[in-house]
Order: sequence, then structure tokens, then C-alpha cells
Amino acid sequence: MVAKTVKRASILASVLGVCLCCLPAEAQTTAQTETQTQAQTQTQAQTQTQVQALAPSSLTQGFSGLARVDAAETFARDRRGGVDIAIAMSQGVPFRVFTLADPERVVIDFQEVDWSGLAAEQLTAADGIHAAQFGTYVPGWSRLILGLSGPMEVTSVAMEVDEVTAAAQLDLRLTPTSASAFAATVGAPRDARWDLPAPTLMTAPKQEDALAPLLVVLDPGHGGLDPGAEAEMRQGLVQEKQLMLQFAIELGEMLVRSGQFNVQLTRDDDYFVSLERRIALAHQAGADVFMSLHADSLSEGQAHGTTVYVLSQDASDSASQALVERHERTDLLAGTDLSQADDKVTDVLLDLARQETHPRSEALARSLVEGLQSQGGDINRRPLREAGFSVLKSADIPSVLVEIGFMSSPRDLANLLDPDWRNRTARGLLNGLLTWRIEDEATRALVRQ
Ligand SMILES: [Zn+2]
Repeated sequence: MVAKTVKRASILASVLGVCLCCLPAEAQTTAQTETQTQAQTQTQAQTQTQVQALAPSSLTQGFSGLARVDAAETFARDRRGGVDIAIAMSQGVPFRVFTLADPERVVIDFQEVDWSGLAAEQLTAADGIHAAQFGTYVPGWSRLILGLSGPMEVTSVAMEVDEVTAAAQLDLRLTPTSASAFAATVGAPRDARWDLPAPTLMTAPKQEDALAPLLVVLDPGHGGLDPGAEAEMRQGLVQEKQLMLQFAIELGEMLVRSGQFNVQLTRDDDYFVSLERRIALAHQAGADVFMSLHADSLSEGQAHGTTVYVLSQDASDSASQALVERHERTDLLAGTDLSQADDKVTDVLLDLARQETHPRSEALARSLVEGLQSQGGDINRRPLREAGFSVLKSADIPSVLVEIGFMSSPRDLANLLDPDWRNRTARGLLNGLLTWRIEDEATRALVRQ
């Protein structure tokens, strides 16, 4: 007989919206087993105490290595009007569950989990779930997002940990609810641990000196659960997030070697960074220039060649608009919402600041295009465009978004995978920055007089 002792932390939907965690450390699970028959309120109190105790040191206690998702035992299926979801893992990890609206989603955050082998189709097999996305959210944490076919509430959540094998299974039950009841419970718990990660400096902080290096914040697009554009190649799957991180590091090294620039990255590994956080990181670092790096897919108009974007209220063409919509949508799905930061008062203040910064961003973009042209790389026929990218909304930092190439174009894709081409493109951007820096100093000196 196989003895399977189940330790259960049942949490009812009434506590959804607050952080739900399950710590399978030895002492806690024993305590849980003993209190299993006690009143639900005590389970809730216990859950909340665990939330307070969620310090990194206590989190990792009792864990050896990354928990792996057991793809073979993971599923979602329709049952009696609702959906049952089971996520099997090699070991128990802390987690939390909450719902978000517009569109309706269930979000499950886990301490970092290895998702290899799991296909989104396993979770979208249920009618109630039409989309599934998963991957790294912030360093050390993973996120699973389930797109719902209609308003549903999480009526039960439980993680069971097998005492013998330490394997764990997270069971969720979703049942249909009214739109108003759904709306009343949505929202991500506010939690500082999920906010700004520590910035990564590639060099020492700048000094207050006109000749000191300028700080360029490079922003490799996408990351973690958001892969960006993808292309299936002979050598395997190529993802925009990987290409852009690689290019950002190459470009960063070139900028630092010039002695004129210090560089900081908004992410230095494969994890999700919200658009809001990318801007916040640039401000926190005191950036002189913000440069977002992308290589999207665009079917419209067969886009190809490097293109530099600056911020405007309206996109200068429909292809630019399509790019903006795609990026904002990913951020929205991942559970962040930039619009909350944009209330009317700050909008006015931002507009005032932008009046001064916008010409500097435009001059920077022009200079970058000239630098790229001087290197003879493949450049878009109309290389300077305007679009309302959220990531460019830093009012006081000259900001550009560079589509290094478009992964939808076979020629661009070959360029992006060619180290020599990337090197020339990085040099073009460096030259553009150098020219801009001199012109900008001169223009600002004139303005000051
Ligand atoms: Zn992109």
C-alpha cells in the first residue's frame, strides 16, 4: 500500500484579493496537518501570518533547487459548468492567486518554477479558458495567466504536498459568476516585493560634470513570460526577448568602451518587466537617455530595416499603431496597468515637461538614423516615425524606441542573427549618440543664455 499523507491548505474565495501563500517547510506543514480540522477562520489567519513572514530567507528554507512543473499531470477541464485546474509540481512552492478584469483573467504567481515541457494547449483544453501564458515574472517569481471565457470566481484553492515524494499539486476550482460579483473581487495585491528590482549598473555612477559620461538606459524589449516576436529557425526557436537582451549587452559594452557613456539595463536576464517599471527604472537611475530595443513582427506593409520611434499622441501610420497596441496588450495581460499612473493632473505636468524634452528626443532620433546610415546597415525607407509607446512616456528623459529590425522580414532576421551586422548597427547607434551629445550640449548652452 502506498501511504499518501495529504497536507492541505484550503483557502476559500472570500480571501481572494489578498496574498495567498503556502509554505511547505517541515514545521509549518506539520502544524497545518494538525489544524486541518479546525475552523476555516483559523486557516485564513494562518495564511495571513505566512504572508507577513514572506522574507526571502524564510521562503527558500527547505527547498533544494527549482520546482519543476510536471506537464504530464497538469490539466484544465470543464466540470459541472465550472473549470477544474490542476498544476503538478516536483515540490511545493509559495504561491498567490488573484483575478483581473478587462479582459477577465486568473493570475497565479509562484516562487520560481521551471515550466519546461508544459504547453499552453493543456490549460486551454477547457472551454472556460481560452488563453494561457506562463514564464518568469520578476527574478525569483513565475506567473501563470489564464484568460477566461467569462466572469468566473475562484471557489477553492489548495496545494497538496505528498509527504513521501514531496511532489505538490495545486488545485483550483473556477465557477461562473456575475460580471458585477467578478468586478467586486478583482485586483492584484499591492506588494513591494513585486515592484522595482535593484537596478543593474554596468559602470560606476556618474558624477555631476559636463564632461562626465552620460547615463544611457538600454531597455531590451519583452522578457520572461512575454517572448515578443518569435521565429522558427533551423537552429530552433528564435525569440525577440533573447535577441534584444543580447543586442543590449553588445551595444552597452560598445557605449561603455567609448568612454562617453555609462550604461544600465532595465533587465539583465530573462524576466518580465512592466512598461511602467521600465520607465521607473530609468528615472530611479537618473538616466540622460532612454533607448528601448525591439525586433517585432509586422505583417502589415512588409516592414523591414531599422526604424527609430519617438513619442507622439497619435501614431504616424497604421503599422506603428499596430506595434503600440501589441505591446500595451501584453503588458495588460501580464497584470500591469499603466493607465492608473496617468491621472489628469500628472498628464498636464508631463505635457509641460515634454514640450522641452520632445525636441531633444527628435534630435536624438535623427542623429541615430544618420549614425545608422553612415554604417550602411539595412534601414527602413522611412526610418523616423512617431507612435504612442508607453515606454517612451518619460517626460524629462530624451527617449527613443529602436526597432533594430523586424523578425517578420527574412532579411532582417538574418541580419539580427549575424554578429557582424549587429556590431555595425551598434556602432551606428554609438555614432548617433556621440553626435547628438555634442549638438545637445550646444543647443542647451544657447537656450540657457
Ligand atoms: Zn517588441
